[in-house]
Amino acid sequence: MSKVIKKGDFIKFLGTAGARFVMIKQLRASGGLWISYKGTNVLVDPGPGSIVRCAASKPKLDPSKLDGIILTHRHLDHSGDINVMIEAMTEGGFKKRGVVFCPADAVNEESIILKHAVNFPEKIEILAANKAHQVGDFEFMTSMRHIHPVETYGIKFNLHKTSVSLLTDTKYFPELKDFYKTDILIISVVFFQARLGIDHLCFSDAESLVKEIKPKKAILTHFGMTMLTAKPHIQTQELSQRLGIEVQAAYDGMTLEIPS
Ligand SMILES: [Zn+2]
Ligand SMILES: [Zn+2]
Repeated sequence: MSKVIKKGDFIKFLGTAGARFVMIKQLRASGGLWISYKGTNVLVDPGPGSIVRCAASKPKLDPSKLDGIILTHRHLDHSGDINVMIEAMTEGGFKKRGVVFCPADAVNEESIILKHAVNFPEKIEILAANKAHQVGDFEFMTSMRHIHPVETYGIKFNLHKTSVSLLTDTKYFPELKDFYKTDILIISVVFFQARLGIDHLCFSDAESLVKEIKPKKAILTHFGMTMLTAKPHIQTQELSQRLGIEVQAAYDGMTLEIPS
């Protein structure tokens, strides 16, 4: 496998699919986010096809160079490739290395990490609300528990002087704006219009959050079918104009370079 040849610090969107149907049809990829910071490589939410997206990435991303894998929650669109990624990070299990971070319910009872792979990483660290974690030079904080059918936490971290947060799947609740105050705010927006009884954010929830948090830049991702139909790049353009804040729609393969 080729090496990670990309230099500098960056966040790369290996996928921007949200929820079942966009994932199943692969209308958008579901590879998660790759973060590279001071030589530490972390993969967040490796959904189905994550390993394929790494190999197809330009330049290629080498999962055997991963130091950590973070799962915000156990849903398949966030964890489908967790086992293959653990194998990749540990060179097929021959090299005990790396840390896997996940909520307790991802590994208790019906574990999404297969028995044979549990001991491949150096450790599995259980996520809880409002806790600090570290792997290599990458440090992050977990959010409060989200309102979602399974145990779910978003994360917040600093890359040099830039603070970044990843607001993953949740139903809207007002306290979100307190935790997610960062320079760059990445939000999972599954629905275009609010859908009662389903614990996901819709576009107007995202608008309220961006308005309240006032990040330097907001990035919408994790699109469901109705968001794709509404054309995220058009919606975000209009939202930017309405709010006077830069709002961007993520696309597969999009890279954010982080200045040092
Ligand atoms: Zn999801
Ligand atoms: Zn979910």
